[in-house]
Amino acid sequence: MSDLPPRYFLLTFLSGACVPLSPLPSEPPDHTASTLSSSPTPSPTPPTFPSPLPCTSASPSISSVPLPSSPILTSAQAAEYLGSSPKDILHCHKEHAEDDTRVQCLINQRYTGKLREEALKFHRETGGVIGLEKAGTLDGGYRGQISIVPELPEGRYQKHLDWVVGGLAAIDGFFQWLGEPKSYRWKPLGLRFYRSIGKRTPAAYAQDWQVSYNVEGGINSSADAVRETLFHEIFHLNDEEHRNWSKRALEAIFRRIVARCGARTPCLTPYAPGTTMVRGGTYYAFQPGNGVGEYAAELALRYYVEHHQVQRGEPITRPFKCGPEENRLAWGLLVDEFFGVDRIPGCLR
Ligand SMILES: [Zn+2]
Repeated sequence: MSDLPPRYFLLTFLSGACVPLSPLPSEPPDHTASTLSSSPTPSPTPPTFPSPLPCTSASPSISSVPLPSSPILTSAQAAEYLGSSPKDILHCHKEHAEDDTRVQCLINQRYTGKLREEALKFHRETGGVIGLEKAGTLDGGYRGQISIVPELPEGRYQKHLDWVVGGLAAIDGFFQWLGEPKSYRWKPLGLRFYRSIGKRTPAAYAQDWQVSYNVEGGINSSADAVRETLFHEIFHLNDEEHRNWSKRALEAIFRRIVARCGARTPCLTPYAPGTTMVRGGTYYAFQPGNGVGEYAAELALRYYVEHHQVQRGEPITRPFKCGPEENRLAWGLLVDEFFGVDRIPGCLR
């Protein structure tokens, strides 16, 4: 078993800051997670802050990175994710001139039955590949070393394939409804399924347009939870593509909130984009050690959840941006950089 290359832990239940794989931030192995779409807890009146705040939407504007419209996932990448044998690689290379058909050939060679059908369909529809993570050891910090092994999402793990593929299809449908975002990508992805041994964490992590997913992840427990996990993960990939935008654009806002509230949950509640809590800790977005990247990913998830409510014709009871000034600023910066559209009704200030 080799030590795995550094990967950003992105979400193990929203587990920890996105730093190269060193000791994991304080992830809640046994936290209480509620999908954002369930009714958020009412929040106490937010403390008022002297504004204007240092970071205005103008200052940390970072050149929107024009993302390539739909980059192709190459057959070399596909072979890596599929763990294709040299024989299969040679065969498909000889038989097919185009990358697309080579990928289809590699999938055909690698899988059988239902998984083959699903993987071919997923590639046809999204350009992505359903693959496997490599066996290895993840440095879990105080949780110790976490051994993971590749695990195909079939048989007793079939439901995870349904949740992941279904979740990505729902996110695709969401962007069809929302309209082409300013600079944001959600496909094609290399999916890398694995199983943690003796632990139910990390639930997922991502880097370089790959999302690694744990079929034994403690929080991968429903279609809704998995869909929101995927949206959170995909934001990290976009943040990475925008040269760690969150660090440059939101750090000042994030630090101001943390300077005011520390890890005191009641004080943080008005600023928390999500409802996920770290057991024995506070909101995942503000859990010490998690960092601004997780605050940003939770914010992006909140953007998705509120717009998804609009998509479903549901009223938005507590628009995040209508909370404290920091919320309004952070929301505006996120919309500006990635989505370019805000369909949440204005605030009655
Ligand atoms: Zn994350």
